[in-house]
Amino acid sequence: MPEGDAIHRAARRLQVLVGQELEVEAPHPRAAVKQLAPRLDGRRLESVEAIGKNLLFRFEGGLVLRSHLRMSGRWRVLQKDAPVFGTPWLVLRGEQHAGVLWGGPVLEIDRGIARRLGPDILADPPDFDAMLARLRREPHEREIGDALLDQHLVAGIGNVWKVESLWAEGVSPWRRLADVTDEELRRVLEEAHRLMRARLDGKPGRARIYRRVGHACPRCGTPIRSWPQGDAARMAYWCPQCQRGEEPKTA
Ligand SMILES: [Zn+2]
Repeated sequence: MPEGDAIHRAARRLQVLVGQELEVEAPHPRAAVKQLAPRLDGRRLESVEAIGKNLLFRFEGGLVLRSHLRMSGRWRVLQKDAPVFGTPWLVLRGEQHAGVLWGGPVLEIDRGIARRLGPDILADPPDFDAMLARLRREPHEREIGDALLDQHLVAGIGNVWKVESLWAEGVSPWRRLADVTDEELRRVLEEAHRLMRARLDGKPGRARIYRRVGHACPRCGTPIRSWPQGDAARMAYWCPQCQRGEEPKTA
């Protein structure tokens, strides 16, 4: 799945279209039925921003196009007249460039999206206080590793950086929110921001324990464990030595 940093990179590339009236086409049949092209064609694009894993295109007249890439979507910026391969979902043609979306499971006009999403972990600076406030309004028995992936609480943290930031701060993904202090929560959020920001800026770095089940923890040598977490059964990874506390019931 594209993580928040990949979405932010796409938003940066798409800035070349901002301020221009766009020719909009939706060649893919599943996009065509949404009737997006007739509503957007010829409108000026006012901004493109990434919020969490969503790209939001604001058009004149108050229309907001939301693109969420899920597993398969990708945006590219091409020269305006470059050949476009395959059957893209959406082509946004400006004066010199074209933004092209291939695969687009979520593509819709949505005015309320920015209100529903939590604060963006990649904002500069991120609103950690608002994230904490949202996390504290959740049921206290919710596990922190599950809550960090909830885009209504914090937008943009994917499974990789959830795993890595919890490990870096020594917090078990299985601990209940009630058992995690504000300081710990804040440190985990700050670490997620730092790791993801470094990725966005192209700094080298790699996951330390993600998908390393059975390998030695880079800090203490204990074998890394994994177990599915939350309703979506996203795989959690943790070091039972460095990240003490609650464990999954069945692991
Ligand atoms: Zn360890």
